[in-house]
Amino acid sequence: MFKDIFGKTRQKLGLHIHTTLSDGKYAPDVTAKIYKEAGYDAIALTDHWYFGEAKELGGLPIISGCEYNIGFVDCNEGVYHILALFCESEPKGIEKTDSPQAIIDKIHEVGGLCVLAHPAWSLNTPEMIKTLREVDATEIYNAVSGINFSRRADSSLIVDMLAMQGYFYPLLATDDCHYYEEGDCTNSYIMVECESLGREELMQAIREKKFYATQGPEIHLTRVGDAFRVDCSEVREIVFMSNASFSHRTFVGEALTSAEYTPRHPHETYIRAYVVDKNGKYAWTNCVKI
Ligand SMILES: [Zn+2]
Ligand SMILES: [Zn+2]
Repeated sequence: MFKDIFGKTRQKLGLHIHTTLSDGKYAPDVTAKIYKEAGYDAIALTDHWYFGEAKELGGLPIISGCEYNIGFVDCNEGVYHILALFCESEPKGIEKTDSPQAIIDKIHEVGGLCVLAHPAWSLNTPEMIKTLREVDATEIYNAVSGINFSRRADSSLIVDMLAMQGYFYPLLATDDCHYYEEGDCTNSYIMVECESLGREELMQAIREKKFYATQGPEIHLTRVGDAFRVDCSEVREIVFMSNASFSHRTFVGEALTSAEYTPRHPHETYIRAYVVDKNGKYAWTNCVKI
């Protein structure tokens, strides 16, 4: 549990992590120890095709989870990796031959949250994603997709193209921890505004986008009249993103803690923001409709 710069309670959550139950390096108890020592309040173990129940491991709350991945190599034929989080029981009858929509529906049948993982790594185009009904969230950043020569950790371009077309998903940052090397372990997470670690409360807060995604910096985006304001921990860059091409949206300095941007084009329909600190660590807000 953390207090943010406004005194609100935040829970630090890692929602995409693999163990030896699929293709991760460490066993679940070792993983729990690593994340507990890194100050996480709860994590989800999302092994491929292995549904992990909610429980406690070494004193760390574990959120139920699984990663259902379909398609294999040819992204043009559709590679979809779908996280099931917070399910009340194991989704029934999910097969590797299922469509992504069938998987999403089966996760919802047991009360779970569906996350479209690493759309950039999978080359999920906006056209592909828009056909999926009731995706509850996606990843703006997936750390493991950026190491081992992949260089596709950052899905923000896809997020922006979707937002431009009116699709606003809650945006997670995750480790997708496999190798437990620097970069894919205790690196990228979300900070959820929530008083408790209750399943219902966390799910609701994520659905309502009451969280920010981060690698360390704190970031808050609020509306002040016609303007949008970022308040943050000390950073070197504050950047506002929208669907305007020409616009002054980047602020650079040694120790910035706030910036404001006023949309000036009538066609700007959304705003999001990110910050970068002196160590190159990012934090991202969700998209806000103008
Ligand atoms: Zn995956
Ligand atoms: Zn994964």
